Amino acid sequence: MQYEYIRKNYFKEAEEAERKAIFDYAEGYKNFLFNSKTERGACATAKKLCEERGYKPYMFGDKVKAGDKLYFINRDKNIFIIKIGTNDISECGIKIMAAHVDSPRLDLKPNPLYEDGGLAFFKTHYYGGIKKYQWPTIALALEGVVVLRGGERVAVNVGDDENDPVFYITDLLPHLSQEQNELKLAKAISGESLNAIVGAMPDGCEDKEGVKAAVLKLLHDKYGISEIDFQTSELCFVPAGKPRDVGFDRALISAYGHDDKVCAYPEMTALFESDGKDTVMAIFADKEETGSQGVTGMQSRVIVDIIDSLSRSLGADPILVRYNSKCISADVCAAFDPEYASVYEKRNSSYINCGASVTKYHGARGKSSTNDASAEMVGYVRDALEDNGVIYQTGELGKIDIGGGGTVAMYIADLGIDTLDMGVPVLSMHAPYEIISKADLYSMHKAMLAFVNKH
Ligand code: MN
Ligand code: MN
Repeated sequence: MQYEYIRKNYFKEAEEAERKAIFDYAEGYKNFLFNSKTERGACATAKKLCEERGYKPYMFGDKVKAGDKLYFINRDKNIFIIKIGTNDISECGIKIMAAHVDSPRLDLKPNPLYEDGGLAFFKTHYYGGIKKYQWPTIALALEGVVVLRGGERVAVNVGDDENDPVFYITDLLPHLSQEQNELKLAKAISGESLNAIVGAMPDGCEDKEGVKAAVLKLLHDKYGISEIDFQTSELCFVPAGKPRDVGFDRALISAYGHDDKVCAYPEMTALFESDGKDTVMAIFADKEETGSQGVTGMQSRVIVDIIDSLSRSLGADPILVRYNSKCISADVCAAFDPEYASVYEKRNSSYINCGASVTKYHGARGKSSTNDASAEMVGYVRDALEDNGVIYQTGELGKIDIGGGGTVAMYIADLGIDTLDMGVPVLSMHAPYEIISKADLYSMHKAMLAFVNKH
C-alpha cells in the first residue's frame, strides 16, 4: 500500500496508443486556436463546430427536451453550448464548464490613425494584463469588426494569411538605449508608446497628409470605411501566425491565446462526447481578462437567464436547478518555470506534463477575491478524475504575497453554484506566445469528460 502522494508525469504514464491520442488531439486544438484569436473568432469557430454536429441556435423561451443539442451566442462574443440530458434537471442540475476566450492584446483607440516622421501608425490601448516590453518588434495581425453608419458590419482580418502584410511596433536600437536601459522593466515601454506602423507610402505629391491619407484611401478601397468609422469599431492587434510545436520531441505548443482557449476547447470536446444523461453547458466567456464585467462577461445576467429559461421549459424550478448544478471554472494556471523558480512554492505548483491542475483557490492577500471551493466539491471532482484514470495535479498560483490573480469562478459561485477551478498549466502566461503541454491539454479533455459524465 502506498500512502504517499506522488505527482505523475502523463507522458511517462501514457502507453503508445495514449501518446498517439495526445498528439492527435493537439492537432484539432491547434486548428481551433489559430481561428480563435479573439472572442469573436472563438465564437464563430465554435458555432461552426457545433453546426457540423447538428447543434441548433437557441433563444430564450424556446421549448427544449432531452437530447436537444443547442447553442446560444451572446452578441457574437460569448457562446453557451448546451446538451439537454435525460436526467431530471431539478435533481441533477446542470454540469457547467466555463472558460474564457478573450486574451490579452492591443485594442485600437477610437481615433487610432496618425502620421509622424513619414510613417502612419495606429494608436492602441492594451487589453488585459500585459508586459508591454514583449509587444514591440513582433509581427502583428489586425482583427475585428467595423460597424458602418446604418449598422452594416465589416470584418477585418489582416496578417494571419502568409501572403498578408503584418503590423509592427518599433523598439529603440541598442546603440541609443543607454537611457532606456536604466528604466524599470514596467516603465521602459509605456502604454502610449505601443503604436503600430500601418503604412509608409504617400499616395502622390498632391496629397497634403501624405501617408495617412494614403492609408485611409486603401482602407476605403478595400473595406469601404472612413476615418470616423474607427469610432464604431472593435479592432485589435494580436500576434500573427499559427501555433507551433516546441522542442525536438514536439511535446509542447507555442501560440498566442492559450489562456484560455486551451481550456475552452477541451470543455467543448467533452460536451460533444458527453453521455447525454446530465444536462451539460459549456461557456466561452468574454472580458475575463478585464474583470468579467460587461454584457458578454461572466458577471452578466445572461447565464442566469439561460438557466431560468431552460429550467422553465423543462418544468423545473430554476432556483433548485442552480442549487444542484456544479461548475468547473476552466482556466489556465501558472506552470512551474525553473528559470524563475523563486516565485513558486515547489510543493504546491503545477508542473508541465503532470496533467490538468485542480486549483482550490486563486486570489491574493490571504485568499481574498476568490472562490475557495469546498473540500466536498474538490472531493467530487477528485472521484470523477480518479474513477477515470485521469492524470491530474493540484496547484496554487505562486508563492504567498508575491502577486495573485482570479478567474470567473467566484462569479458563478455567487449564483449559488458549487464551482471549482481547474485548468492547463501555462509557461509565459499572457506573453504574445505562451507555451502549454500536449499531455496537459489532453488531460484537460479527459478531466472535463469525467466531470460531466459523473452521476
Ligand atoms: Mn485565464
Ligand atoms: Mn489570463
